[in-house]
Amino acid sequence: MSEVVMSQELCEATYKKVGQELTELLKNEEKRPILLCVMKGAMNFLIGMMKYVECPVIVDYIHISSYDGTDSTGKINLLKDMTFNPEGRTVVIVEDVIDTGLSLAYLKDYLNKKYHPKDVKIAVFVDKTARRKVDVKVDVVGFTMNVDKYIVGNGFDYHDMFRNVPYVFTPSEEDFKKWDEMIAKDPLMKNE
Ligand code: 5GP
Repeated sequence: MSEVVMSQELCEATYKKVGQELTELLKNEEKRPILLCVMKGAMNFLIGMMKYVECPVIVDYIHISSYDGTDSTGKINLLKDMTFNPEGRTVVIVEDVIDTGLSLAYLKDYLNKKYHPKDVKIAVFVDKTARRKVDVKVDVVGFTMNVDKYIVGNGFDYHDMFRNVPYVFTPSEEDFKKWDEMIAKDPLMKNE
């Protein structure tokens, strides 16, 4: 059975909580900090929570891919780098979920080495604690999930589908079977 993990109302309340925490964290920065959205999963999170951030910020995005279906490959591809040079400023990586931690560890290290920012902080919508492989400091957590289940909806995808669903859910075995059949018939999905 599929199950709702975060209702639309809970998502909104989580955005508010995260936006308020980020305001506290960033309000005394001398140079405008950068909110760096990790595409595509964190789109919904960024748009939802940034309206509750009440201090000046710059918004940018970066595009990485690390997942193949529901399995972490541990291999991270940088598809699009950030636009602004964050040297000497605080960057907040805005990520949809931390699972093994590999993507965020890679990204934090990459930004530090390439750009020498003042600081790299991390805000995640969902902290999945069960499969952590590397220890990464997360500064702001929206929602904590201790069960190891694949989530879909509200930014979270399955082969790029369902990001538009306004709540977060765990699909059933039948859902995955049905979707895999759909994907097999759709050439666009097969190339994804
Ligand atoms: P990590 O490197 O921490 O294992 O995984 C980070 C990335 O894996 C996330 O940015 C996200 O794209 C993807 N991911 C991890 N868990 C889930 C999940 O339950 N559902 C979806 N849709 N993506 C996930």
